[in-house]
Amino acid sequence: MTEKDKKDTSALNVNGGSTSPGQVNQVAVQKYRKIKKKQLSAGEYFEGIRSGNRTVLSKAITLIESSLPAHQDKAQEIITRCLPWMGNSIRLGITGVPGVGKSTFIESFGKYLTSRNHKVAVLAIDPSSERSRGSILGDKTRMEALSSDPMAFIRPSPSGGSLGGVARKTRETIILCEAAGFDTVVIETVGVGQSETVVHSMVDFFLLLMLAGAGDELQGIKRGIMEMADGIAINKADGSNMDKARLAKMEYENALHLFPLPPSGWTPKVLTCSAKANIGIADIWSMVCDYKSLTLANGYFNGKRKEQLKYRMYETIQEQLNQHFFENPEVKSEAVRLEKEVLENRITAYSAAGKLLKKYSRQLRKE
Ligand code: GDP
Repeated sequence: MTEKDKKDTSALNVNGGSTSPGQVNQVAVQKYRKIKKKQLSAGEYFEGIRSGNRTVLSKAITLIESSLPAHQDKAQEIITRCLPWMGNSIRLGITGVPGVGKSTFIESFGKYLTSRNHKVAVLAIDPSSERSRGSILGDKTRMEALSSDPMAFIRPSPSGGSLGGVARKTRETIILCEAAGFDTVVIETVGVGQSETVVHSMVDFFLLLMLAGAGDELQGIKRGIMEMADGIAINKADGSNMDKARLAKMEYENALHLFPLPPSGWTPKVLTCSAKANIGIADIWSMVCDYKSLTLANGYFNGKRKEQLKYRMYETIQEQLNQHFFENPEVKSEAVRLEKEVLENRITAYSAAGKLLKKYSRQLRKE
């Protein structure tokens, strides 16, 4: 044996080995950077969304949220291309006062669904986001497990703008998420203002999260919101809270019995759960599935979606008419003058409105 052979067979010899690949796939990184920088055409956006590329999906949502006319035009083109895939999901609205456990619940619920091969998108409508700088989904530490789940997509509430504007953006985002293959879309909102009515108008099933032991007044939940709910889940039913939760379940069941049977033919259910301890989550999903089967069979499910679409069309017309009217400079100055006359009791509010509308239609003819 030569000196060299001895060295090769020695246990102390260290082979050169092959260079190990880095932790990060450089090809994917390059591709991601390219997509991030590149100006994509509407067709490329569409292809990316359909193939489930979340970078492209996020960029397309950013276009929807942008107020630049060029972005808006492109966004509308992308949405139009995605329309044939619209509706391929169950849309769930979730509401409840701050602290009830919405994000904890969405995390457990979302993980439950992704573990069953569902693709889950979580969006938010947060009218308070300007004031509190994004109280819903804004905090990156919330829903940690779900946000790193490749089967889930989480998008915070678009910031700024009116509730109507935020709602429109969310509705359009739902369409893109459905085209990207998300079969469950969860829309979170705080149940304290107008936003739950808006969310109700864009979802199939509306879930209200409540707490045991705190009166409705304390929870800031109005009767109207309870009437909208297809299901109530009493959260934090764990530890010493179990008995209180069971009692609350009975109380809410009794309260719901007083409401007339909704047109869906579905009697709203009350369940208890613990988002933190992962108890009762599967039952809530079964409730949603039961609702879907019943309302698909009786035609309510698709009928409601058609109504929502029609409503959206007329709502948009109203919004745009409103905007066009009040932004007209002639109307604006005339309004100031007429307002004064109304306040001085020289003209009725009714005829002032009539004069203003006449002025507006004359302006239109001139345009
Ligand atoms: P949100 O403001 O409605 O989104 O509520 P969060 O999900 O942020 O929860 C508020 C607090 O309640 C947090 O400290 C959670 O850990 C706690 N929490 C949420 N769900 C449960 C639950 O099922 N049981 C218990 N004991 N605590 C919970």
